[in-house]
Amino acid sequence: MEPIKTSNPRIAVLATGGTIAGQAGDASRTAGYKAGVVGVDKLLEAVPALSQVAQIHAEQIASIDSKDMSIALWIALSQRINALLAQDDVDGIVVTHGTDTLEETAYLLHLTVKSDKPVVLTAAMRPSTALSADGPLNLLNAVTVAAQKSAWKQGVLVAFNNQIHSARDVTKTSTYAVDAFRSPEVGALGWVQDGRVEFQRAAVRPHTTRTPFDAQGALPAVEIVTSYAGASRAAIDAFVAAGVKGIVIAGTGNGSVHATLQQALADARKQGVAVVRSSRVGSGHVMRNGAASDDALGSVSAGTLNPYKARVLLMLALAANITNPAAIQQTFDTY
Ligand code: ASP
Repeated sequence: MEPIKTSNPRIAVLATGGTIAGQAGDASRTAGYKAGVVGVDKLLEAVPALSQVAQIHAEQIASIDSKDMSIALWIALSQRINALLAQDDVDGIVVTHGTDTLEETAYLLHLTVKSDKPVVLTAAMRPSTALSADGPLNLLNAVTVAAQKSAWKQGVLVAFNNQIHSARDVTKTSTYAVDAFRSPEVGALGWVQDGRVEFQRAAVRPHTTRTPFDAQGALPAVEIVTSYAGASRAAIDAFVAAGVKGIVIAGTGNGSVHATLQQALADARKQGVAVVRSSRVGSGHVMRNGAASDDALGSVSAGTLNPYKARVLLMLALAANITNPAAIQQTFDTY
C-alpha cells in the first residue's frame, strides 16, 4: 500500500512532558532520569525529517511526569485541542505525553474532542538523552499518522513503537520495555513505518463528534478501589465520607467483588454514589451479573474498559448528568 500524502499538512505538536522529554545524567541511563524536562523545540530539533512530513506548530502545554496528570490539565488540553482543530490552518494534532497515564488522557480526549481531524498521542520509554532513545522515531511516526487523510474519523490514536492503537483499547503493559503498549484481545488498528501508514481495522464504538461528552468544567470525583483477599471497607467508607460521586471497582477475575466491599458498596449506593465494576485482570470483559449484585445494588458493568478508563467514562457521564444506573449502563455499553 502506497503512503497517502496530504499536501503540506499543518500539524500542531502539543507537549506535556513525560520520558520523551526526559533527561538523565549520562547517555547510558534508561532509568533514574527526570521526566518532563526537555522543551518541545528541542524534541522537534532532534527529528529533522519532520519538515518533510508536515509544517509544525509547537506548543508547550505542560512539563510534567504524567504520573502527576491532573483533571485541570486534562480539561486545558481538551479545550486547547478543540480550539486548534476548529482552525482551518490546523490539519491534525500530536500530543507528546508520559507513558504512565497516556491511556487515560487518550481515552478522555477520544470522548471529548469534537473534530474528525486526527489526534495522535505519542511517548517514549527511554529519556531523550539515552542511547537508542525511542522518542524521536515515535514523534516522527506520530506526525506521519496525524498527517494522513486515512487517520481522519478514527478517534484519538496512539502511535508507539511502529503501531497505531485506538485510545479506547490501548494500555501500558510493561514497566521498562520499549514495546510497552498493547490493545489486549483486539490488537492494534494498524502500523506506521518509514513514512507508510496502514490501518487494518477501525474502532466501531462512537467517539469524538459522536459523544455527548465534553471537558468544560470540573469533573465529579470518582475513585478506584481494588478487590483482593482480605480487603477491608475502609477505603470505600472514606471515599463516601469525602463526598465522591462514583466508585470504580477493580474487581477480581470477571469483576467479582469481595463480600466485605460488596456490603460497603451497598451502603455507598444508598448515599447515591454510582458504582461501576471492572476487572483488575488486564484483559477480557466484565458482564452484568444480574440478580447476584448489579440488579439488586444498581451497579454497572464496565465491559472491556479497564478500571482507569472506566473511571474516565464515569466522570464524563456524571458530568453530563447521566446518573441513574440504567443510563450509566447504557453509556458503558455504547462508548
Ligand atoms: N513517568 C513517566 C511519565 O509517565 C514515564 C514515561 O513517560 O515513560 O511521564
